[in-house]
This record gives sequence, structure tokens and C-alpha cells, in this order.
Amino acid sequence: MPIPDGLLFRQLFDLASSTYTYLLADEATREAVLVDPVFEQFTRDRALVRELGLTLRFTLETHVHADHVTAAWRFRDALGSRIVLSRQSGAEGADVYAADGDTVTVGALTLAARATPGHTNGCTTWVTADRRLAFTGDALLIRGAGRTDFQQGDPRALYRSIRTRIFTLPDACLLYPGHDYEGRTVTTVGEEKRWNARVGGDASEDDFVGYMTNLGLPHPKQIAIAVPANLRCGEPAPDAVIDAPAWGPVVRTFGGVPEIEPTWVAEHRSAVTLLDVRETAELTGDLGRIPESLHLPLGELRARVADVPRDRPIVTLCRSGRRSAQASAILEKAGIRDVASLAGGMIGWRALRS
Ligand code: FE
Repeated sequence: MPIPDGLLFRQLFDLASSTYTYLLADEATREAVLVDPVFEQFTRDRALVRELGLTLRFTLETHVHADHVTAAWRFRDALGSRIVLSRQSGAEGADVYAADGDTVTVGALTLAARATPGHTNGCTTWVTADRRLAFTGDALLIRGAGRTDFQQGDPRALYRSIRTRIFTLPDACLLYPGHDYEGRTVTTVGEEKRWNARVGGDASEDDFVGYMTNLGLPHPKQIAIAVPANLRCGEPAPDAVIDAPAWGPVVRTFGGVPEIEPTWVAEHRSAVTLLDVRETAELTGDLGRIPESLHLPLGELRARVADVPRDRPIVTLCRSGRRSAQASAILEKAGIRDVASLAGGMIGWRALRS
């Protein structure tokens, strides 16, 4: 079943915790929701929201996670989005406590909360109003189910949640889980009813309980940090260091490039080292050269990275901002933290003056 018309949809992945984050937006109004954003991926996901021209209205949690910290608080702090999760979650500081049947709407997109406890008390499956997509969190995983051996885990409750609240959706309904550890991305209700190794086919409640109580999984590495943080919706501890650079308004793109706007650079010329990575012949072309900029062609940068002065932050630049992006990546890899690529390159720089 394809993604419905008018819905902008992206599936994002956090490699460290194997967590999926979902961006859904109404294409007409450009209003968006994020399901299960990850703290460490805040910069990436914020860049995607910005680059797609979206306004983030809500972050939705499927549950209080034990394996990663939510980015909900960071998104609210930065973009004013509202934090939504189940009242049964026990979390403090949310804007909306969703009960079973409650809905969240942005433009033509509506998501309804279905209580699917069992992995935790507050587990919620978010289902689109047309019942074509559902976000199951850790209640139902692809060919699996969330573990029930910590937090408020209860295999009997989870069996009933899956059987009566998820398997009762249309067979063609696409199911997007909270995690996958095997590279799988999506499944359907019909597929899981037939093939889910724990709860599909003829599995009885007792079969499921027997399976779930003998998983023998190690304790989650992050649980002691993640659960307390998620019970305050991901608000960082007062002494936490957030990864924004202090030297200038560097914006990291969805492609991972640290970029800085030419207007700021023009006003802070003496505070940075400008590193021009164009070919020598380009320096005498129409775009000219910025006085006092250092010149090191991109092709020589890796070999001569030791020649780059480190006393000030470095702004790399080229014609259009593509090669300088590569240059910033080379410098970051060489351990230079305060680096950014001049957005728009010399073309953007010259446009400032005209
Ligand atoms: Fe979980």
C-alpha cells in the first residue's frame, strides 16, 4: 500500500540504538509531527524539518524508552512543538497527555492514540485516521514484540494489546515499529498475523508468555540514564553539555555539513580564518578572492592539513559551497572542531555586496 497522497513521510534511523523516528507532515499546510525523535539526532532531524520547509507542531512518543533519550524536550525548546505522550507513561512535563482514542491533527493528517500496554504501561500505537499507517513503538516489532522483562512489562497485557488493538487493523495497514535490529523497515498487519514468530498464527496467550519469559536478553545499556531522562520528556540535566558550537551560528544540514551564513562571516571576519579551497586558476576569475583568505586547494587539503592554523575557527569556502563542505568534513576528521563551510560559497559572498 503506498503512502497516501498529501502526506509527506520520512523514516529516520538512529544507528546507536537502532531506533526509528518518523516524520509525518501535511503537504498542503507544511505542518509536521515527529514520532519518537532521538536526543542525539536532534540536529539532523531539525535540519530535515527546516530543509523541507515544515513547521513542527508535535512530537509524539510511543512510550517511555529504556534504550535512548527522546528529543521531545529539545524540539519544544527550539521550535515550540508540543510534547504528546500517554498519561499512563508516568512522565512529567508533557503538553498533552493522550488517552486511548485521543487524536493529534496537523492539516489533513490525524493520528489517533491506541493504548497498547504490555512492553510498558504507557505504550501507545499511533494510527492514521484512514488506518493505512500505524506506528507501533515497541508493542509490535517486525516478526517480534517488545520485551516485557523490565519497566512495567507484562506479556499477557502485550499479547492482548497486539491481538485486539493492532491485529484488528486492516490487513493492508502498514506497521512501522520503534526499532529493528536486522535492517527491516516496515511490515503489514496481514503479514504479522501470519508470520510473527511470537504472536502470529495460532500462538496462544500462554505460548506468547512462554516465549517472552525466556528471551534471556541482556539488560539495556542505557536504561539507568534513559528512563529517568524520558520521565522528564528528555529535558537535559542542568549541567549537561549540548553540542551546539559556541563560536558562531553554525547550522548543521541534514547532509551533515556545518554551514555558516555569509552575513555573519562578513561581520566577524577577524574572528575566523577563511580557507579558500578552490583551484589556483579560480582565484583570478570573476568571483575574485577574499582578501586575507588562506588558499589550499581541496585536492591538497588532506595531505597538508597540518598547515591549517588552529588559533581561530575555520570557515572553508569555494565557488558554490560544495567543495568547501567536503573540506569542512576533512578538517573535522582531522580533529578540528570549530569549522564551518561558507553557505553559498563565493557566489553567495558576492551576492552580499551587490
Ligand atoms: Fe522500548
